[in-house]
Amino acid sequence: MKKVVYIASECVPFIKTGGLADVVGTLPKVFDKKNYDVRVIIPNYLCIPEKFRSKMSYITHFYMDMDWKQLYVGIMYLEYEGVKFYFIDNEYYFNGFTPYGDVKWDIEKFCYFSKAALSCLPAIGFQPDIIHCHDWQSGMVPVYLKTLFASNPFYSGMKSVMTIHNLQFQGRWDIKTIKAYSGLPDYVFTPDKLEINKDASMLKGGLVYADKITTVSNTYAQEIQTAYYGEGLNGLLSARHEDLWGIVNGIDYDIWNPATDPLITKNYSGKAWKKAKTENKKKLQEIMGLPVDEKQFVIGLVSRLTDQKGLDLIDCIMNDICQDGVQFIIIGTGDPKYENMFRYYQGIHPAKVSANIYYDEAKSHMLYAGCDVMLVPSRFEPCGLTQLMALRYGTPPIVRETGGLKDTVQPYNEFEQTGTGFSFANYNAHELLSVINYAKCVYYDHREQWNSLVDRALQQNYSWGESAKIYQDLYNCLCPWIQ
Ligand code: ADP
Repeated sequence: MKKVVYIASECVPFIKTGGLADVVGTLPKVFDKKNYDVRVIIPNYLCIPEKFRSKMSYITHFYMDMDWKQLYVGIMYLEYEGVKFYFIDNEYYFNGFTPYGDVKWDIEKFCYFSKAALSCLPAIGFQPDIIHCHDWQSGMVPVYLKTLFASNPFYSGMKSVMTIHNLQFQGRWDIKTIKAYSGLPDYVFTPDKLEINKDASMLKGGLVYADKITTVSNTYAQEIQTAYYGEGLNGLLSARHEDLWGIVNGIDYDIWNPATDPLITKNYSGKAWKKAKTENKKKLQEIMGLPVDEKQFVIGLVSRLTDQKGLDLIDCIMNDICQDGVQFIIIGTGDPKYENMFRYYQGIHPAKVSANIYYDEAKSHMLYAGCDVMLVPSRFEPCGLTQLMALRYGTPPIVRETGGLKDTVQPYNEFEQTGTGFSFANYNAHELLSVINYAKCVYYDHREQWNSLVDRALQQNYSWGESAKIYQDLYNCLCPWIQ
């Protein structure tokens, strides 16, 4: 039995701000329980809904040395859908309304969390073979493991994996501050370890000290070894390319299932989707405040509204997109400049654009089921879950050929009648516009081909099964002696 612990800053269903939470919450459930004992450690944020917090039980607490301070570490516990979750409790650090806020404060918080998560293992009586860390918030774990914890026999022989969900966020600040927050020795703050352009990067620490590195698609694994996508770490990642695996994310096929989804108007499956998708479209138009008309070509976008997501491209061509026969529904929050941009376009095209500037899981299900195409024109996209959800609901995605978008959406080929969506290569607004117009033309003028495209999208399988097997291979390769 291989024992694995996941250390991360978010996890569904407890707390989610992005795709990371879906991965950390879903993957542990999928492993074969006879051979893998996978548990999860996350912070006990005050903003975790009360319905979960009230079910947690207190395990123990202790005080941890952090540089010159002694800090409280409480451990709460909850078993959920067969997985054991531990929550690091400290109200001083985890009392915010959201998991993240001020960057400097987050850096202090997650230095504390990384050390606390490692320190609590003896107290919970779990001695993992592999510690699997996710993103910069747990990047310090492999560093602690190989430095301050190296001489402690409890931790000897433990292997670590660092998964990059997004290289852009690194937990970067000046060396003096991170040294003080982490209590790590001077010798780790050199350019071959944590230092990056005179600052320290917590993610870089994880990438240097982990035994294996993974990221969430093959293409992104290649891209981050280049200067354009490498965020200053491409040299390190190229040097470690033999330890770098690209494993594409899956999605939870029980939750994201058009045949049973209680959040959509009409369920559907197999080839019998046409009537149901029309019903879903009409309801969607109604709740989003647009004219109800099944003939419209409805474009959807559900996203964090940030520079990463290619929204400046949309800005250039929005008036061209909003032609006759098209509606555009957006659900998202983020950078005020993009929030206002979509509000503005809703103002000038009220019968065509519906800008829903909030986070709403239920409405996102209705959007996946009810629109005709889903737009994901990202500048970079480590994996992307939106296109996987869209495929699952028979909504062909329109994507830029980058990262996981390139690996999971096959572009439509009208000659061979293949493909599951539409794609464009260069980060260029008019390439995006021409592919949107092409999709619209197939939708209006070649309905049979369109229907086959939707059939093919529905036949794709991006559940966790195959990817979980690759993670198992990775764990086996790290600890081949454990059966
Ligand atoms: P990232 O992790 O970069 O935000 P992903 O595509 O990996 O992007 O994951 C985004 C997930 O968050 C998808 O499940 C998407 O449906 C969901 N999501 C994003 N914004 C919203 C929103 N405003 N309301 C509901 N769900 C959202």
